[in-house]
Amino acid sequence: MYEWMVVATMSTREQQAGDAEHADARLGAGTRLECKVCWYVYDPAIGDPVWQVPAGTPFADLPAHWSCPNCAGERTGFIVVADEAGQA
Ligand SMILES: [Zn+2]
Repeated sequence: MYEWMVVATMSTREQQAGDAEHADARLGAGTRLECKVCWYVYDPAIGDPVWQVPAGTPFADLPAHWSCPNCAGERTGFIVVADEAGQA
């Protein structure tokens, strides 16, 4: 699982230029992502009270208009958090 996370992180970075939707599809339901601007972490287990996203919402299922609740950075600016703990 950890190796998969590393691959996902690299793929996301490579595809930020033009294929963000495709990159999102690679994310797991419990994958946490981190804003590369302010380091805000989106955790699917918590959701996002700012955007009224219910707990249990995968990053890939966030609304299209969603952006970083802390700095308003675009969702394409989020990178996968490589965390061995907490991954199913
Ligand atoms: Zn941010």
